[in-house]
Amino acid sequence: MNTDYDMIAIGAGSGGLSAVERAAEYGKKCAVIEVKTIGGTCVNVGCVPKKVMWFAANTAAQINSAQGFGFEVNMKSFSWKKLKQGRENYIKGITTWYDGYLEKLGIDYIHGFGKLIDQHTVSVNGKQYTAEHIVLSPGGEPAVAHIEGAEHGITSDGFFELEQLPSKVAVIGGGYIGVELAGVLNALGSTVEIFTRSGKLLSGFDPIIQEALIKDYSNHGIKIHPKMQIEKLSQDKTIHTNKGEFSGFDTIIWAVGRNPMTQHLGLENAGVECTQRGFITTDKFQTTNIDNIFALGDATGRAPLTPVAIAAGRRLSDRLYNGMTERHLDYNNIATVVFSHPPIGTIGLTEAQAKEKFDQVKIYQSEFTPMADALLNHKTTTALKLVCQGKDEKIVGCHIMGHGADEMLQGFAVAIKMGATKKQFDDTVAIHPSSAEELVTMR
Ligand SMILES: Cc1cc2nc3c(=O)[nH]c(=O)nc-3n(C[C@H](O)[C@H](O)[C@H](O)COP(=O)(O)OP(=O)(O)OC[C@H]3O[C@@H](n4cnc5c(N)ncnc54)[C@H](O)[C@@H]3O)c2cc1C
Repeated sequence: MNTDYDMIAIGAGSGGLSAVERAAEYGKKCAVIEVKTIGGTCVNVGCVPKKVMWFAANTAAQINSAQGFGFEVNMKSFSWKKLKQGRENYIKGITTWYDGYLEKLGIDYIHGFGKLIDQHTVSVNGKQYTAEHIVLSPGGEPAVAHIEGAEHGITSDGFFELEQLPSKVAVIGGGYIGVELAGVLNALGSTVEIFTRSGKLLSGFDPIIQEALIKDYSNHGIKIHPKMQIEKLSQDKTIHTNKGEFSGFDTIIWAVGRNPMTQHLGLENAGVECTQRGFITTDKFQTTNIDNIFALGDATGRAPLTPVAIAAGRRLSDRLYNGMTERHLDYNNIATVVFSHPPIGTIGLTEAQAKEKFDQVKIYQSEFTPMADALLNHKTTTALKLVCQGKDEKIVGCHIMGHGADEMLQGFAVAIKMGATKKQFDDTVAIHPSSAEELVTMR
């Protein structure tokens, strides 16, 4: 078939960019279409700016901790404006780099909204482009509850636009984005309250993490309102709930999940199937029900994380253009970090999931105050759990909250992905003194 391109990706975020980059490295002619800004959610309104804010929050926490180690430090001032400017400059550097990178690889960047016209055709700004393979990588956008006054709240996108540190913030939602933004704002000096529907933070995580996080956030002054149904927001930012009214906020942040950006993608024109919520369904090779159309990343509703979208995109191009016929992403044992304060790292099954799946499950767990906090008034918790199964105690889950958990987990994730057993952990000589050593000495 004679087409303009070998591959077109709709959406220049983590997934789409990775697929076309790898395809171009194999000499294929590619284009990527983007309606907003190159880099997608991760670079512009996700992982990258969030992590900058997390570093800033950690710095504030360290300044507050300095006294415990004998330093008399007074925080003279903090400029949100300077932080925002620095963050935006940093991101600008990344997006500019992308422009040059695409050019170097010979990938056409088409700015505009891409819509499927048929199985091989995409239209952008009234112009049509054809491709042998089409990759759908439109990602997602923050969800907002459909209630009266919902517009009085902002989303995580709006958080990155804030011109000043809010004084009193309500975060609606206790998922990872809500938890992360709450932690950052609290550390930087805002008064923060979290409104949750379930009463838990981080639903779906192992209870050792959920409980330790609620304890630490409460100890650090974050008020958590459980079992809240939000009924209405008023213009003065009063929150009306099933349990009464809560007022005095200058900022309300919706953190109630994300929806796939598939509504106007023209899926029906090409006959691409999706779930009722709009997530595009694929097989393990990222192929939709239409054999030359593929979907990647958040729009597929599986493990919505940047490295997942990247890995799926690269593997897809390896398979299509480099003869690696069985290459696909294994969605089991994907490590993930929540950049809370302190951070959380988790991989594999929770205790409950393991007990449902296996007959013989053994749990090792430990909770303590880390040495880093020993001299401080404000202490944090370190909580660790290993979930093991079978006679040889294969490790099928590892859950960590505590200073350094974000960096600690990656190495353990390699071992767990390789099928490590508890004995192999025990046979590894510990690094002392560290929090990580607990994971190889638990009894
Ligand atoms: C606040 C926040 C923090 C996060 N932190 C982390 C983290 O720490 N670690 C982590 O791994 N993940 C994190 N994520 C998730 C991560 O950003 C996503 O999993 C990742 O960006 C998904 O990549 P994607 O390619 O599927 O979609 P995206 O990166 O969202 O890219 C999709 C792109 O497609 C564009 N688009 C959509 N429809 C069209 C169309 N029809 N035509 C043209 N363009 C279109 C969009 O504008 C967007 O730029 C975070 C997300 C948020 C919101």
